[in-house]
Amino acid sequence: MRDLSVLVIGAGMGGLTAALALQKLGFKVKIYEQAPALGEVGAGLTISPNATRALEFVGLGPFMAEHADKPSSGALVHYRTGEALTKTQRDGSFLEQFGAEYYQIHRADLHDALVAAVRDNDKDAILLNHAFATLTQEDNSVTAQFENGETATGDVLIGADGSRSAVRGSIIDTVAPKFTGQAAFRGMVLAEAVAPYMTIANSSTTMGPGHIFTRYYLRHEALVNVVGIAKTEAWKEEGWSIRATHEEFLTEYQGWNENVAGIIKAIPKDKLYKWALFDRDPIPEWTVGRATLLGDAAHPMLPFLGMGAAMALEDGVVLARCLEKYDTPTAAFAAYEDARKERTKGVLLDSRKQGIWYQTSDPDNFKGFASTGEMRVPLMGYDPGSTPI
Ligand SMILES: Cc1cc2nc3c(=O)[nH]c(=O)nc-3n(C[C@H](O)[C@H](O)[C@H](O)COP(=O)(O)OP(=O)(O)OC[C@H]3O[C@@H](n4cnc5c(N)ncnc54)[C@H](O)[C@@H]3O)c2cc1C
Repeated sequence: MRDLSVLVIGAGMGGLTAALALQKLGFKVKIYEQAPALGEVGAGLTISPNATRALEFVGLGPFMAEHADKPSSGALVHYRTGEALTKTQRDGSFLEQFGAEYYQIHRADLHDALVAAVRDNDKDAILLNHAFATLTQEDNSVTAQFENGETATGDVLIGADGSRSAVRGSIIDTVAPKFTGQAAFRGMVLAEAVAPYMTIANSSTTMGPGHIFTRYYLRHEALVNVVGIAKTEAWKEEGWSIRATHEEFLTEYQGWNENVAGIIKAIPKDKLYKWALFDRDPIPEWTVGRATLLGDAAHPMLPFLGMGAAMALEDGVVLARCLEKYDTPTAAFAAYEDARKERTKGVLLDSRKQGIWYQTSDPDNFKGFASTGEMRVPLMGYDPGSTPI
């Protein structure tokens, strides 16, 4: 089916990876992005070995090896004492165990690399200012309508437009997301500004009653990425660009060890953001005719396993392989859903469980917890480039 023309809605991690995998397999692809300019927020991303394999499939293995950080030590930390409760696996053993590296990278760096690789294959592949509005399907084609008044017709359409997917809304009835009673803070700070507070492991999560606080290095240890997740009903807005204040962030972490407060205080004012966490149940199917979904559009999940982008990257590679292997879009999309549904549903549900587990009221319970007990470690052996389809 290599002569198929593929419309991808959304130039996020998932849409770009799918496009790159499709280009690699010989398909014609156009990506329609709502934003007037391409870019990603200033935040970190964990790329576990399963996600690394997806990036290797699309040719970004060397880029990751050169530009991403490989944490050398990890820990779960007690919120009050600041002592390590247990080590987590961040010691370079992933390559040996899973055949691919575990990385941490600035989202913008990976996004830029994906965009450049897609444009190297076709400089006109990405169209900006194209917010998807709705679609119509004929027997042999699908037409997207955009809010700018333009339309585009292709053989198939992939909705990769994130957790508030308009494509999903136009093909599947979905229930409104539920507020979880939790909010996240994020920030980024120069490593030299927080050096005195980076005392335990170079990648760590501190746990306390109803709260976690994660920080790790980026850009070869020049930056520190910070995420705090707190039980709070204080606000209920979901979005990547809602400003937070030091006071709000610190108030949630009162009584925590001095490393936490030290890092929060050092984050520049204009690098502090917050957003409320919403949860959605898995949906039984995400293909209608010639239109399908991937990534957060298909299975948005809570961030506690750090696997949302990984699932989007895996989807992109598996979907491209299915379109290459099968003779009709219907057969390809059916095979794609079959290959992906159970895995993504399991990760979505485990992300919920891990959130509850992390937000224990008694972090002492974690003393001696073996690193392999992390729920996500068994997920890391998956290879989207060779999994049966
Ligand atoms: C705190 C936090 C930490 C996380 N950490 C990790 C981690 O460490 N590792 C990991 O694997 N995952 C992580 N994730 C999850 C990850 O960020 C998401 O799962 C991932 O970005 C999903 O990719 P996507 O391509 O499906 O969607 P998105 O990245 O949301 O991209 C969607 C794209 O579609 C565009 N778009 C939206 N609507 C339209 C429209 N109508 N028309 C056209 N374009 C549209 C958007 O502008 C955007 O470019 C984290 C998430 C959070 C909240």
